[in-house]
Amino acid sequence: MATETRETTGARTGEQFLAGLRGDERELWLEGEKVTDPAAHPKLEGAARSLARVFDLQHEEPDTFLMESPDTGQSVNVTHVLPKSREDLERRRAASKRIADETVGMMGRTPDYLNYTFANFAARADVWARYGNEDGARNVVEYQKHMRDNDLSLTHTLINPQVDRSVAEAEQAGGEVSLHKVEDTENGILVRGARMLATLAPFADELAVYPGSDLRLQDARYAICFAIPMSTPGLKFICRDSFSVQRDPWDHPLSSRFDEMDAVVIFDDVEVPRDRIFLDGDAKLHSEVITDTHWRAHIIHQAMTRAWAKLEFAFGIGHTIADLTGVNAFDHVQEKLGELWSMLELTRAGIVAAEAGSFQAEGSEDWVPDERSFVALRGLMPKWVPRSIELIQLIGGGGFMATPSKADWEGPLRADIEKYFQGRNAGAERKIRAFRLAWDFVGSSLGGRGELYERFYLSDSFRMTALAYLLADKDHPTELVERFLTD
Ligand SMILES: Cc1cc2nc3c(=O)[nH]c(=O)nc-3n(C[C@H](O)[C@H](O)[C@H](O)COP(=O)(O)OP(=O)(O)OC[C@H]3O[C@@H](n4cnc5c(N)ncnc54)[C@H](O)[C@@H]3O)c2cc1C
Repeated sequence: MATETRETTGARTGEQFLAGLRGDERELWLEGEKVTDPAAHPKLEGAARSLARVFDLQHEEPDTFLMESPDTGQSVNVTHVLPKSREDLERRRAASKRIADETVGMMGRTPDYLNYTFANFAARADVWARYGNEDGARNVVEYQKHMRDNDLSLTHTLINPQVDRSVAEAEQAGGEVSLHKVEDTENGILVRGARMLATLAPFADELAVYPGSDLRLQDARYAICFAIPMSTPGLKFICRDSFSVQRDPWDHPLSSRFDEMDAVVIFDDVEVPRDRIFLDGDAKLHSEVITDTHWRAHIIHQAMTRAWAKLEFAFGIGHTIADLTGVNAFDHVQEKLGELWSMLELTRAGIVAAEAGSFQAEGSEDWVPDERSFVALRGLMPKWVPRSIELIQLIGGGGFMATPSKADWEGPLRADIEKYFQGRNAGAERKIRAFRLAWDFVGSSLGGRGELYERFYLSDSFRMTALAYLLADKDHPTELVERFLTD
């Protein structure tokens, strides 16, 4: 397995990234068809190109994106940094913000997402090493170097399928559907079952499995963490319908570029080699590696940075269409635009607050964002992004439907379109394109998927807002109340 060979690429170009997807033996199914080259498939190539652009950016803007690998001396992406200061956090965030701006927050799982996760896991190898899991901890550290120094794109899959959420994994469908260990093999372990979703599956080099929910202590066979190449025998990916629309980007500016795709993962007796196993059978440690590594604070740093860019984009869309139709003259539309802006500004403030309050974790060099604003935002963002979509719909009215295609624009009715589709301060083409862009955000299949993603990708908002209450410091607030109860 490649972790042992220390021949490395360093930061890759877009072309190198695309070449890496070509011709491997991954079993990826899309609408009944086995896809052999995701980068060239008409329903996937738009997103592949956008991701390639993310790889190219690191060479075009090395000051933002590159750092020296502590092991190879090569240039590698800065989002792999094991942060040891507030400056490290800020630098990492600046790179993620640049990526999120480039993809206008529409691609939730650009590779930086998992770069943060594994950097955090490697920084907290001490937690992974608990209860005799030293080998697993060593594998995590080596794996993080491998993905950093080879600039890998990872997908991950944490949640078991929705068979019966009211009972534990072991009690659903005879315990056979959820991903579980079957047996030890000569070279590692054999795993079987399925996981519900892996976003980015067509565009990933490797698949990571790590804890996404708590397990009962007796359910040890479900407590497994590892990372393996997408082409590992027995791995099968079944994609949802493509929402990519490969007509002219004039018609579908977002759907032609940013469908990052989601796939169910089936593990049909997959052998995980020993050096890729991070945890094997310890349900207690399975819970602790998420809570005790400060993973939550690190991953929300990436997630809220992307959300900030997405809300900026939403505000930009709202303002643009309101200005084109002149409705921003009305105070209640201004109020809606003000609400949109407030969400993006509070997101920015939450990120800055988390960085300002960052600290060195006890017993470790890991530098951790202050998670309080992140815990709050994690519960609010699944409500805010759908609210931003609702606000844009209320600002745009029926304009989203008055949107002829590029073929119409270039056809015999051009003169009519120029006259009847013009805006307050711009010609018909600009107005039509703005409303088509807005619809791709609020109403197309990709727009709907984006809304669902924001509601659920970090677990559901209901549980996250409840978690905010559970984690909240209640001492000072109750002291304020206590004064009036005891005088
Ligand atoms: C577009 C998209 C992309 C995703 N990409 C990934 C990915 O790349 N990798 C990955 O690992 N996951 C991914 N996910 C999955 C995501 O992690 C889950 O959707 C999320 O954890 C919620 O779980 P669920 O979808 O199974 O919903 P469920 O947990 O089944 O929830 C459905 C409803 O039931 C309620 N409910 C369920 N259980 C309970 C309970 N115990 N108590 C109270 N209420 C409950 C919920 O509040 C919700 O209202 C993705 C999801 C989406 C929508």
